[in-house]
Amino acid sequence: MSISRIELNDQTSIPQFGLGVWQVPQADTERVVSDALEIGYRHIDTAQMYGNEAGVGAAIARSGLAREDLYVTTKLNNNRHEAAAAKDSLRASLDQLGLERVDLFLIHWPLPTRYDGDFVSTWETLLELREAGLTTSVGVSNFQPAHLDRIVAATGVVPAVNQIEAHPYFANDAARAATLGHGAHVEAWSPLGQGGGELTDPAVTALAERHGKTPAQVLLRWALDRGDIVFPKSLSKTRLAENFDVFDFALDADEVASLTALDKGAAGRQGPDPDTFDWIPA
Ligand code: NAP
Repeated sequence: MSISRIELNDQTSIPQFGLGVWQVPQADTERVVSDALEIGYRHIDTAQMYGNEAGVGAAIARSGLAREDLYVTTKLNNNRHEAAAAKDSLRASLDQLGLERVDLFLIHWPLPTRYDGDFVSTWETLLELREAGLTTSVGVSNFQPAHLDRIVAATGVVPAVNQIEAHPYFANDAARAATLGHGAHVEAWSPLGQGGGELTDPAVTALAERHGKTPAQVLLRWALDRGDIVFPKSLSKTRLAENFDVFDFALDADEVASLTALDKGAAGRQGPDPDTFDWIPA
């Protein structure tokens, strides 16, 4: 099974489907990532904040896979936005991952109420890190339309991706439209709604029955059929295999629309609002 790839705006491409490892404990990460690689996953989404880059690195080393066959993303921690700290932190991530460069490095959160609201210079630092060859592509995460407008106006450089929360209860269409409007690609985080109510929503279970698939597979298909990049997380090898088995069916436009209609707006968020989120690790 080869996963379709999405062309990004910097002449690179990314597998549309992968594994996310938020809330995978460091002690379990090598096993979970190894299981995923064995199933056929080739795209891993981690972050400095997740505390498990070393486990990702151990699984990569053990896999014997060629570097060019893997796509690895990590993200700048909220307490590392200043230029020197950001640069040091990517070098530390590379050490943990056992890699010479990552494929994609993201600003994890814009933190508009921290660092004097200056996420533009953080974006400029990421551009320097790309120039230095420590990451192939650079992007952002949790950027609202105004945040995107600001970094593009200031630097003229559009991020390759904006990784944002999106699932049927929180379709996040304004941020999606702004991202696509700039020519960046959308990565949809928490595509399973973090294992919440969408998995038992009657609109989802009806489509699952119609297609002979599981509710989780329908939710992933919805995101893929909207064109988004996804990386569901699971600790279970059975579920990793289930989540990977989504390439033999598609939802038609009406079916996609029936799930998009479940949108609850801000009430459907699982995560914090990026305009106010200001958490910084100790
Ligand atoms: P998710 O992938 O939407 O859902 C994960 C939850 O669903 C877990 O509780 C998992 O439980 C359960 N699950 C997995 N497969 C299932 C299946 N087939 N059937 C039923 N339940 C299933 O949530 P997420 O981890 O928040 O999002 C995915 C990735 O997006 C993250 O890992 C991370 O890489 C990224 N992310 C990024 C940000 C950001 O700020 N940039 C924020 C959040 C997430 P088990 O593990 O027990 O199977």
